[in-house]
Amino acid sequence: MAANKNKNQSSLVLHKVIMVGSGGVGKSALTLQFMYDEFVEDYEPTKADSYRKKVVLDGEEVQIDILDTAGQEDYAAIRDNYFRSGEGFLLVFSITEHESFTATAEFREQILRVKAEEDKIPLLVVGNKSDLEERRQVPIEESRSKAEEWGVQYVETSAKTRANVDKD
Ligand code: GDP
Ligand code: MG
Repeated sequence: MAANKNKNQSSLVLHKVIMVGSGGVGKSALTLQFMYDEFVEDYEPTKADSYRKKVVLDGEEVQIDILDTAGQEDYAAIRDNYFRSGEGFLLVFSITEHESFTATAEFREQILRVKAEEDKIPLLVVGNKSDLEERRQVPIEESRSKAEEWGVQYVETSAKTRANVDKD
């Protein structure tokens, strides 16, 4: 039985997703909300970790492996390894911090550089902390038009209220 189960598990298609973005934008909070349905307010800011969850995608059960990065990617060698291992990327910023939005362009450049041989890289731009509308520094039109320019989707989320988290 156990052997059978293992076999099933390993035969599932695995999609490797990397959470990328400046510190403090909510990469860990989003990851943990997606994984465990709870808002973790003070996750260790320097801790990078990976998580695995089964989801149904287009009617097929697949496994998603999420790598929650945490600043180690400041070191080019580590960053390139992370990015090379990724299949899809969530470019996360906080709608309350304009600098974190600007930073997504740099992260995107780095990803494209590492993945230069691939023609289509699944990227999603995520404006997190949508519950903090009164502190918004990044107009929705600005991030939408940037995403459009890049030919990718834009979604606003809140790790706190779980708004749009399942769109991950
Ligand atoms: P990371 O460095 O990108 O992993 O950011 P964290 O997930 O550690 O979040 C940084 C801080 O922002 C923490 O204090 C979180 O509680 C808070 N935070 C993260 N996401 C949200 C959100 O959607 N709404 C609000 N209000 N706070 C958030
Ligand atoms: Mg984190």
